[in-house]
Order: sequence, then structure tokens, then C-alpha cells
Amino acid sequence: MTTSEAIEEARRFVADAGRVVVLTGAGISTESGIPDFRGPRGVWTRNPAAEKQSTIQNYLAEPEVRRAAWRSRLDSPAWSAEPNTGHRALVALERRGKLHALVTQNIDELHQRAGSSPAKVVEVHGSMRRVMCWQCGRRAPMDEALARVRAGEDDPHCLVCGGILKSDTISFGQALVPEVIERALSVAGEADLLLAIGTTLQVQPVASMVPIAARAGASVVIVNDQETAMDELADVVIRAPIGTVLTAICGDDAN
Ligand SMILES: [Zn+2]
Repeated sequence: MTTSEAIEEARRFVADAGRVVVLTGAGISTESGIPDFRGPRGVWTRNPAAEKQSTIQNYLAEPEVRRAAWRSRLDSPAWSAEPNTGHRALVALERRGKLHALVTQNIDELHQRAGSSPAKVVEVHGSMRRVMCWQCGRRAPMDEALARVRAGEDDPHCLVCGGILKSDTISFGQALVPEVIERALSVAGEADLLLAIGTTLQVQPVASMVPIAARAGASVVIVNDQETAMDELADVVIRAPIGTVLTAICGDDAN
């Protein structure tokens, strides 16, 4: 099958589906300039110390690790990243009334910024645009914490209880949120079509959305620039730039 035949077949799957469940990974955000942390050119692949910084045990135990983390958050390229055509195509899919849920491994909130309904988005790894207090669990906008860092605090703590603040994301060594994972796996079982985009489908338990959907009778379309762990379960595999592919398969028929 050529790429354009694969895109045409995927477009038909979308047209025929009533409930589309989308799973997105880092690949959809790289087109917005956000680096992929684990990929071949990823931040952690090039700099293992950055991975240590992201381990929850080190972050909680070592003030120097937290100070370094806050400094590097200040100039993250993610703050200025804008949604791209791939994110916007998924908004079009929702406007067509077909989006059942949008599960994302990304922490950048670009789906919501593009216009996807927050109620449809399931953030399995949390959001870097919020902070959470490790002690009392209070969540607050990241912007407020960054403003304190800019004003001179090198390791801002919770204003309510004095606990350690971290970004509201799942760090290495930190447990996933069971209710969130449960929702991701359960919507997979309700799909007519599962669209897996920009993920190598190697990270469990989210990767098992694919076999769950396939067993429940859903069609499976995978869009990724490299081979994934689940390609053999897919009806269609497309290796082409994500923004272009999603615009072709999800965009409104009128566009
Ligand atoms: Zn607190």
C-alpha cells in the first residue's frame, strides 16, 4: 500500500466511525518545536543527567536538583510552543462529533490550546502548566510558581503548607494516577476507531489501549515516523508527517 492509499483508507475509517478514540505521543508536539525526551534526538538520550533531574526520589531529596529543575523550567521551549496543524485537525474531528476521547502522553496542553474540549482530554502524564504540592496535593498554575522563581526564589514551596512543589507531571519513579489510567483503558474499549499518533507504543499501560480496542472490534490506525510495537495490530500504518496526515484524514469534509 502506498502512503496516499493508506491515507485514503484511514480517511474512510474516520468517515465511517462514530466514536474515535485518539492517543497522542511526543511525535505530534515535535512539529510545534517541543523536543521528544526519549527519541533518538531526545533530551534524555543526549543528557542522562537531565533524566536524573526528573526522578522523583532525587527531586524530593536534593534541593540542588530542585533548584536546577526550576532554572531549566524557566527557559523551556515549551512555554512559547503553539499548536500545529495536527492538533487543529483533532479539533476538527471533535467538531464533526466523532471524538470520543483524546488520550495524550504529552504534558504541554497543546490539545486544549488548539481548542479540544478539556473534558475530552485525558492527560496520562499530567501537565507541565500546573504545579502540585507533594505534601497537601494542592494544584496551581505553573506561571505563578515561575513568577516567584523570576523574582528570586530558587526553590519555591507551597504557599499553603510549605511542602515541596513540583510540576504536575508524572516523573520517573512516580506512580501513574490510577483513575486516569483506568479512564484511558476504558475509553479504548468503547472505540469504533483507535487513532494512535506520534507514539512508539512502548510505554505501558497506555500502549495496551491498542490491543484493548482491537479486541473490542475497533479499527486501528497508527501514524508515526518510525516502527511501533503495535504495527501488526493496525489496519493501517502511515509513516508521513503527522500534521499533513491528520489534516487529510480528520479535517472537515468541507475543508
Ligand atoms: Zn501544600
